[in-house]
Amino acid sequence: MSYEASLEYARVQDKNDPLNAYRSRFFLPQHNGTNVAYFCGNSLGLQPKSVGTYMQAELNDWAQFGVEGHFQAAHPWFSYHHFFSERLAGIVGANKDEVVAMNTLTVNLHLLMLSFYRPKGNRYKILMEAGAFPSDQYAVETQVRMYGYNPEDAIIEIAPKEGAHLIEDADIIHAIQEAGKSLALVMIGGVNYYTGQFFDLHNITNVAHSVGAYAGFDLAHAVGNVPLSLHAWNVDFACWCSYKYLNSGPGGVGGAFVHERHGSDPSLFRLAGWWGNEEKSRFKMQKGFVPQNGAASWQMSNAPVFNMVAHNASLEVFAEVGMTALRAKSLRLTGFMEFLLRQVMPVPFQVITPTETHRRGCQLSLLFAERGREVFDALTANGVVADWREPNVIRIAPVPLYNSFEDCFRFYEVLSGIK
Ligand SMILES: *Cc1c(COP(=O)(O)O)cnc(C)c1O
Repeated sequence: MSYEASLEYARVQDKNDPLNAYRSRFFLPQHNGTNVAYFCGNSLGLQPKSVGTYMQAELNDWAQFGVEGHFQAAHPWFSYHHFFSERLAGIVGANKDEVVAMNTLTVNLHLLMLSFYRPKGNRYKILMEAGAFPSDQYAVETQVRMYGYNPEDAIIEIAPKEGAHLIEDADIIHAIQEAGKSLALVMIGGVNYYTGQFFDLHNITNVAHSVGAYAGFDLAHAVGNVPLSLHAWNVDFACWCSYKYLNSGPGGVGGAFVHERHGSDPSLFRLAGWWGNEEKSRFKMQKGFVPQNGAASWQMSNAPVFNMVAHNASLEVFAEVGMTALRAKSLRLTGFMEFLLRQVMPVPFQVITPTETHRRGCQLSLLFAERGREVFDALTANGVVADWREPNVIRIAPVPLYNSFEDCFRFYEVLSGIK
């Protein structure tokens, strides 16, 4: 694909962009009275404008119906989590029964590990990527401790080769094979939060299964960003948050995937609550948990409706656009940004995100040898919102739903204008 480093070119791309109109469906934060160029959708996605109306509708239903709102609200609260199944399934490549919106990410990771990390005899190790998001590291560390293992021994971390920034998929595969019968679980962040690297989840899953281990993924930076086919890839479980690419607001409800071969197995251990019970006997208030079919049986509590309103508003937009069109624009938009970053710049840096598009989503991570913080401050002062990671990385996420080609050009202008 050929690009040009000019504002005129960027504006023509925006004009011809089939998703251009979606930008106006979101509130863009302001800087000195104009829209910022917002590249932090990998941290907190922007607010869909419909959220306020949807929130008010739930407040009205609560005021009007009281408890009867469970069945009489426009979106009955009793079945509120059902409204997400089809749309989430479309985003992660699953069947409807394999996904559920519940809790938050780290909580879901713990709950699913209680089902899929069942160490026994010599099979007790967990393989993960080095430098995983801290919450995932803490979760895995405390899970192995719970069963009396020493994390130093029970957790295998795969790091980049000496001097490299990225982890080779081949090194992960090799380590899984080497761990063999000692391996209980492979648990990896699908897209690394720091480098933006998208791992080969299909292959990793196959190889994990070939040694008798489960494969589960944290999709915080993958969901709504890269194409996923969790069902077809035979992934055992996955979890994600909704406030990054899924634009569902701070602390928004998380999500989980459990493959149907496990979701339909009532003998698989899970911590239970009434909302995971069969719906028809839920209100009989009897002894004896009977899990409903699918991922929904991992639910414990009734749906946090107010925390799900933004999710509903946002997934509506995703359903309209579809992941195929979103990814198509994402490739062009991030490709344009990458092209701009290759022009001669006054402060040198290296893009550490993979250049192969099948190994990344929309994010690019820029590693500075020097003056990184100064560049970041210049961006902020010019109304360009990026993300600074110690010691020397600027992360930017051109999000195809609301970022424009002109946004990318603004980023480039600030960078190239630094003295
Ligand atoms: C954002 C993120 C989290 C955050 O966890 P919460 O439980 O939602 O606070 C966890 N893991 C990864 C990989 C993340 O990117």
